[in-house]
Amino acid sequence: MKRYFLPLLLGAALLLAGCGEKHETLLLLGNVITMDEVTPAAEAVFVKDGIIEFVGTADDARKLCDGKTVVKDYGTASIYPGFLEAHTHGVLAADRFQQVDLTEVTYREGVVVMDDYVQAMKQFMDEHPGMPMYKGAGWNVKEREPNAAMLDAICPDVPMFLNTEDGHSMWINTAAMKMFGIDAEAARKYGTDCVRVDADGNPTGYLSENPAIEILGKISMSKDECKKGLLLWQERAFSYGFTGVTEAGLGLACPYATEAYQELCDEGVWKLRTYANLVIDENVPDSKLDSALNNVLAMHKKHNGEYFRIIGTKMFMDGVIEAHTGWLEEAYTDQPGYYGLKRCPESSRVAKVVAFNNLNGMNVHFHTIGDAAVHTAIEGISQAVAQTGVKEGRNALSHLQVVDSPDFQAFADNGIIPVVAPLWTPRLFPEYGITCSFIGRRADTQYPVKSFSDLGCKVNFHSDYPISSSMSAARSVYTAVTRTLPYLGEEGVHNASECITREQALQAMTTNVAYQWREEDRQGSIAAGKLANFAVFDANFLKADLDSIWDAEVKATYVDGKLVYGK
Ligand SMILES: [Zn+2]
Repeated sequence: MKRYFLPLLLGAALLLAGCGEKHETLLLLGNVITMDEVTPAAEAVFVKDGIIEFVGTADDARKLCDGKTVVKDYGTASIYPGFLEAHTHGVLAADRFQQVDLTEVTYREGVVVMDDYVQAMKQFMDEHPGMPMYKGAGWNVKEREPNAAMLDAICPDVPMFLNTEDGHSMWINTAAMKMFGIDAEAARKYGTDCVRVDADGNPTGYLSENPAIEILGKISMSKDECKKGLLLWQERAFSYGFTGVTEAGLGLACPYATEAYQELCDEGVWKLRTYANLVIDENVPDSKLDSALNNVLAMHKKHNGEYFRIIGTKMFMDGVIEAHTGWLEEAYTDQPGYYGLKRCPESSRVAKVVAFNNLNGMNVHFHTIGDAAVHTAIEGISQAVAQTGVKEGRNALSHLQVVDSPDFQAFADNGIIPVVAPLWTPRLFPEYGITCSFIGRRADTQYPVKSFSDLGCKVNFHSDYPISSSMSAARSVYTAVTRTLPYLGEEGVHNASECITREQALQAMTTNVAYQWREEDRQGSIAAGKLANFAVFDANFLKADLDSIWDAEVKATYVDGKLVYGK
């Protein structure tokens, strides 16, 4: 009798454990800011099996609990839906975590000169002798034009690559130029906007756009390094309270990125919901465009999982103003007759890409900095909308540094999602003065936000992390509302007419981003039936004084009802 009794008890215990796993319940108490129109505020959220089951009063929620419910009382802290990021570069972040971080040099203190970056690389080389190549990223101050000789002085034999903070330019030494054939012929092929040359027509070691971005892919991490770096990126995003991100350029920086994401999902360790737009070469010949688009569709069908999903195409319309590659309607102030780099000059090509994506349930995510780039993308999208009749294609234009005011209405008319960066709006010095020297008075109206929300557009926020070295939701609210920084005060306020409300800022990091991903029924707000993804902060972004919002800290982040950061 005894012999049978023990296994029977064990079996019962296993059965109970199984039940416990099937019905994990969680009660969160605190100041719940739901972003849901029906119940905007609450005291409690009850979660069952990773899904929100109830939102309301603490008393009512407690009635749903049993002895096994995990109860977390956050007191006066605020519970938000997990924040969603409309445009980041996880793979680039993964890469940069494993390189020399030159943003530390830029932001250390005092005046940065080019030699400070060189010295940072020298220090790393001394600490890590014998590497086959040296990589750094994050330089952005340019008191003089960089050149290969400055790097050759510390690194004559081994290739060295220093990516800018914006990721659009690269400073390399002579060994690196030799490795990738950057010579007078390359300057002719790419143009001297992209391969800078000296008076004799020889490349100087300063590259922008296509040649820089192509080299990035050729000196990439291995797949294992990519996976390791992505897990660091996931940790970083959770530590900021983000539970979902757009990978706005899958295919950049690492050819193994898709496999790396997929393998992490298959291993069950990837929980940062990632919605990726696959980069296509905007200049492929017409004859190859169809196969490039069909490839995106095939990848969309293949990678369509819960935590990693390819949702469409990424296209670059231009470069960046600091490299003189942003595409402008009027010439650069300091370079008469020059309008920047037209990476995709034909609106008919945009129309074809958009129509294909939208008819297949996908979207197109555009890089658009200058007003001419914005205008051409809008023209293409409106042609596509006219052809297909798809008004909710969820197409997104990101960055939007300079926008011609007549174009605002076209965003609303064609359902275009403006993806803007509040963290970039304050007037910083000396950066603002440098921008003025490049684009003159256009700097005064750069980075519009309210112009879009006033027209009913679903504004999305982005940090472009790691292009911005922070992705703080709290600081995004602060800068969206004030367009300055605490230590700059009034002096830093830039284009105050574009300030938006706190509620609008929160929408731009929750419900509006879920819309970009066609996920609005599942995430972006705290409501019964939605994913139990939350960010808990020690500040109420709707009511707290702005200084405490700037310094707000993340207390906890939850994905599917499970704690992934904090406590
Ligand atoms: Zn970007």
